[in-house]
Amino acid sequence: MRHRIAVVGGGPAGLTFARVLHRHGHPVTVLERDPAPDARPPGGTLDLHEKLGQLALDKAGLLAEFQALSRPEGQAMRILDTDGTVLRDWRPRPGDRANPEIDRGQLRDLLLGPLDVRWGRGVTEVVPGTRDGALVRFADGRQETFDLVVGADGAWSRVRPAVSPATPHYTGVTLVETSLDDVDTRHPDLARLIGDGSVAVYGVNRALVAQRNSGGHVKVYAQFRVPLDWHRNLDPADVEAVRSSLLALFDGWAAPALDLLRRGTAFVHRPLHVLPVSHTWTHVPGVTLLGDAAHLMPPLGIGANLAMLEGAELAESVAAAHGPDDLDRAVRAFEERMWERACRWAEFATAGLERLVSPDPAEAIALFDEVQPS
Ligand SMILES: Cc1cc2nc3c(=O)[nH]c(=O)nc-3n(C[C@H](O)[C@H](O)[C@H](O)COP(=O)(O)OP(=O)(O)OC[C@H]3O[C@@H](n4cnc5c(N)ncnc54)[C@H](O)[C@@H]3O)c2cc1C
Repeated sequence: MRHRIAVVGGGPAGLTFARVLHRHGHPVTVLERDPAPDARPPGGTLDLHEKLGQLALDKAGLLAEFQALSRPEGQAMRILDTDGTVLRDWRPRPGDRANPEIDRGQLRDLLLGPLDVRWGRGVTEVVPGTRDGALVRFADGRQETFDLVVGADGAWSRVRPAVSPATPHYTGVTLVETSLDDVDTRHPDLARLIGDGSVAVYGVNRALVAQRNSGGHVKVYAQFRVPLDWHRNLDPADVEAVRSSLLALFDGWAAPALDLLRRGTAFVHRPLHVLPVSHTWTHVPGVTLLGDAAHLMPPLGIGANLAMLEGAELAESVAAAHGPDDLDRAVRAFEERMWERACRWAEFATAGLERLVSPDPAEAIALFDEVQPS
């Protein structure tokens, strides 16, 4: 029996879910709010872990293609003191493929492959338990029913309210993102500083991280502890005003770190929100959640990895289910597994953010030493 399955959201979770179902020959409807794959910038680089994101790609039959595209050298990490002193300079060993980097856009295109995504289909609400299944309402007023609706629609999920009243809360840390293009030609000093991977500088309640993406593109993330409305007197469209505020927040740091902000182009404001660490819900037949929609956590290199593995595992369970009761049992079992694993990672990421953007910058170095293979 072919179940009518819809996934809301074409991010790492939703596309991996759809791609693994597709591999098993099971039809799936992908509903994505963006009008086209390239409607907005795809974001920075992701490191995919061997036992999480890479395992998911293996389940999708895409591991070899990932290995061809990804950048193992991007695992390199340099840490500087705020005065510019190099504290750590870690490089992966030849052949180390534990956590290679891939641009989000490349990953999206890899997962999209033959999938038939319905672009421009913003979902406003899901109503479980109607006579014909779970009802999906769209922003354009249309509606459609499915046997299972999977909410993979990220932090501000419109599917989540069908199973849980939880909403994300602010962590106290804000991230402002900027970019450098053509770094090897236009900013060779910064290219040397960043190397093949990332450079991070940790100060008191502040962090600056720059990550090399493919094609000489660099993403810079300034992170700092501030009230949510820290920018209330700032016009976000005024790039120079935002730059000055950031430079004031990082006042006294050595030139190489500040140059990452001085030379960055546009700035994107991303206050970091999270769901409660052990977010679970009473199972609702016909609806479930994956990825950030289920367990939004601080960005410590885990969220996309978990989202993908969950997508792959749920797809395998759904593909193996025969009949409505079997499908419901499969989803329940999946949820139990997801909650237990996500809770462990959310605890890690929450504690990690406390240490990376901390009153004591030595905590960030200690965390690096704990997680990095020597
Ligand atoms: C700065 C930063 C760096 C990060 N770095 C890493 C990293 O290195 N490694 C890692 O593993 N994780 C990282 N993360 C976390 C990672 O980005 C997320 O955990 C991951 O993207 C979650 O995937 P997702 O598919 O659940 O949600 P999303 O990526 O948010 O995708 C959700 C999709 O749903 C669509 N959508 C939203 N609402 C609707 C709607 N109503 N109807 C239809 N579609 C909708 C959106 O357009 C989007 O395409 C980082 C996060 C940040 C902020």
